[in-house]
Amino acid sequence: MEHFYPEVYISEEDLSLRIAEIGKAITDDFQGEEVTIVCVLKGAFMFCSDLLKKIDLPVKLDFIQLSSYGEGTVSSGNVKIEMDVSDSLKNQNVIIVEDIIDTGLTMTTLKEMFEVRKPKSVKVASLLFKPSRNTHPVDIDYLGFEIEDKFVVGYGLDYAGRFRELPYVGILNAGN
Ligand code: 5GP
Repeated sequence: MEHFYPEVYISEEDLSLRIAEIGKAITDDFQGEEVTIVCVLKGAFMFCSDLLKKIDLPVKLDFIQLSSYGEGTVSSGNVKIEMDVSDSLKNQNVIIVEDIIDTGLTMTTLKEMFEVRKPKSVKVASLLFKPSRNTHPVDIDYLGFEIEDKFVVGYGLDYAGRFRELPYVGILNAGN
């Protein structure tokens, strides 16, 4: 199979610098507390892994997998839990770690689902944000980068299951 490399949009170095800043911000905000990181699979796995290493606090790690019906490069209407977290989240400082917030539907739905579980707090960390398509506004407490309305891949994000392994965020050009 041909090994194709998308064009670099956010370099490995820029990702690393920004993620260190986010880790420090979380560390400063939660001094003396424990945080529960909820990694939204699959796209956030790499961001989450690098971010955890920059958080100097007692940390619990959990995972959740969601699906939104439909396929292609535009997210569709309904969000469903495919695999839930293993912890109750009650009285915990939850930080949801997501790869990208586009329309905001996934994150607003997830936050609502979590609030019902009576955590101590719920914060959102997203590596990327596309403001141009945001129809469901949600507070992003920790943001990596605001980006243009482009379909990005790499650093955990996929297109048809591919490109997650890239160490940078890239763009697929027409014809790729
Ligand atoms: P939202 O619910 O905010 O519209 O969409 C969030 C989800 O859509 C992300 O978790 C991601 O799975 C997918 N998504 C949105 N934009 C992109 C993109 O540019 N690239 C990739 N690979 N996935 C995206």
